[in-house]
Amino acid sequence: MTTKNLKKGSDPCKGRTLTMKIMEVCGSHTAVIVKSGLASLLPPNIELISGPGCPVCVTAQGDIDNILEIAQKDDVLVVAFGDMLKVPGTRISLKKIRAERGNVEIVYSPLDVINIAESNSEKTVLYFAVGFETTVGATAALIKEAKRKKIRNLKIYSTHKLIMPAMKALLDGESEIDGFILPGHVSTVTGYGYFEDIAKIYKKPAVVAGFWPENVLESVEEIQTLVKRGKAEVKSVYKVVLKSVNMEWQKLVKEFFVVENAAWRGFGKIPKSGLDINDKYKEFDAKLFFNIKDVKRTDKPGCSCGEVIKGMKKPAECSLFGKACVPDNPFGPCMVSEEGSCSVWYKYSYNSKIKGQKSK
Ligand code: SF4
Repeated sequence: MTTKNLKKGSDPCKGRTLTMKIMEVCGSHTAVIVKSGLASLLPPNIELISGPGCPVCVTAQGDIDNILEIAQKDDVLVVAFGDMLKVPGTRISLKKIRAERGNVEIVYSPLDVINIAESNSEKTVLYFAVGFETTVGATAALIKEAKRKKIRNLKIYSTHKLIMPAMKALLDGESEIDGFILPGHVSTVTGYGYFEDIAKIYKKPAVVAGFWPENVLESVEEIQTLVKRGKAEVKSVYKVVLKSVNMEWQKLVKEFFVVENAAWRGFGKIPKSGLDINDKYKEFDAKLFFNIKDVKRTDKPGCSCGEVIKGMKKPAECSLFGKACVPDNPFGPCMVSEEGSCSVWYKYSYNSKIKGQKSK
């Protein structure tokens, strides 16, 4: 794979240069692109923009604040992945609560929560479930095991999200996206037929890519070819991904979750984009148990993460980037995770004067 063909970024029929905005939906692809300096290999008419594929970044400020409020109750032990501890709430973070009260635990797998709940039977153990289509299986396994073991003190606050409705929300808005590099991990779980509406309804090409720089480059070339030919297709250059929609995954979602409108950072509520706990397992539903009625629509003032997530701003266009917001002291969630655009750009491109970071 070379960039030879990519350098012919012109429309032979009209004799003009085609400019193309291609969104990489997945945070892991953003990391590959920035670490490898891949954008600098592309012709200037092709712009890669980051999308809403970092689960930590898209979790609504209101959900974070709800968790932080519950975490301050004396009889509650909060369990979450490490990145979620660093995400700043409006006033405090789980990391600070952990330092002050000691009632926040980090897990590496949702099934670890079972042991924690069993060893802390005098407390209500609240698991903060975050992630896209890829991670719902692990939360489903947790619910199943908790049910089997009749664990009564476990409650799960689900902020699981579906990436497709967010992509549709972008295309329904004012975005100028010409094509998508589809997330490899989600596609592995769902099958790439899951993204068919991007071509059928929105007439945009979308290509699943693997996680080496040459895989991403190959998907860019494929998208460029499809755009030039005026073809809207969903394809995969990631060999392990099948087209057929994974029925087992769909069954699992239906069994343990219910699709609901969900709040996203930057977007607000997106219809049918979130997974709440199915009524069949309502004894584990933290939103019912703690009587959480709603998620406030308040992104953190001063943080442009909502615009970064939607590809409307580059990290360096946030006035706090590299100043009041750095990975050791993040002001917003996009500076927290390994998949967050601000964090990736800061770590791998900041020293090269954030080259190519301004919007074209
Ligand atoms: Fe938010 Fe920090 Fe990124 Fe600015 S640099 S958008 S404050 S995460």
